[in-house]
Amino acid sequence: MLKNKVALVTGSTSGIGLAIAESLAQAGCHIMLNGFGEPSEVESLREGLSARYGVNVFHCPADVSQASEVSMMVKTAEELLGGVDILVNNAGIQHVAPVESFPAERWDSIIAVNLSSVFHGIQNVLPGMKSRGWGRIINVASIHGQVASPYKSAYVAAKHGVIGLTKTVALETAKSGITCNAICPGYVLTPLVENQIADTAKARGLSEQQVMDEVLLGAQPTGRFTDVEDLGAMAVFLCGSASRNITGSVQVMDGGYTAQ
Ligand code: NAD
Repeated sequence: MLKNKVALVTGSTSGIGLAIAESLAQAGCHIMLNGFGEPSEVESLREGLSARYGVNVFHCPADVSQASEVSMMVKTAEELLGGVDILVNNAGIQHVAPVESFPAERWDSIIAVNLSSVFHGIQNVLPGMKSRGWGRIINVASIHGQVASPYKSAYVAAKHGVIGLTKTVALETAKSGITCNAICPGYVLTPLVENQIADTAKARGLSEQQVMDEVLLGAQPTGRFTDVEDLGAMAVFLCGSASRNITGSVQVMDGGYTAQ
């Protein structure tokens, strides 16, 4: 069913986005990658995906915090691949600090990358999806779209916003053959989490090992991280025919974190 569909995955040069792009390529989708990285490394990711799965893969280096670049990226995908059938809004950044000392420019950039980019991406792909009568929008939110943690004010605010936006778009597209859902991972060991361990240790007065054991894994009753491949499989499921009546939903994959 996904063979020859076109998927645009933001923030897919690393971590969860890369795994979702890989799973969609394996399912037969042509892929527009997006995200930052060393040009030679990005090129080898692009070539590798294309060669392994026999699909067309391009990379667009758009900075999704800029509305004009999101719009340009969607146009480029439409020109090169023939229209975006699947949009995965995954790009995200994090900053950990108490709210009184949270730098205002970090607040602005987290809201721009983690929330506003989702709005801009959706706005740009919907006309094409509606004209084809089929579309899948997956927003990678977080458990922090449902619950808060201290010192992550901008991230928690943005991710709660992503869930609200997901539900609104689902209602507006409910009769168009388009679904819009959110995936909420618990902790996944990607660069985004690795990079916040030191800051979290500082903010909470803990050692880095304590952050890993008590703050990250201690919060997940299964005591394990969520694997990126499992999130890729969830994205493929949400694009498949068995999920055609799932829209406006929040798919949690968090080892029981939010069940507590
Ligand atoms: P990551 O740091 O491994 O990857 C982030 C990706 O986003 C990279 O490809 C990076 O280049 C790209 N990116 C960052 N800023 C960008 C910008 N302005 N424009 C375009 N691309 C940009 O992080 P990850 O852990 O894979 O996170 C992916 C998503 O999953 C994020 O939205 C994050 O909030 C969410 N998430 C992660 C976890 C986790 O534990 N890792 C948990 C819940 C939700």
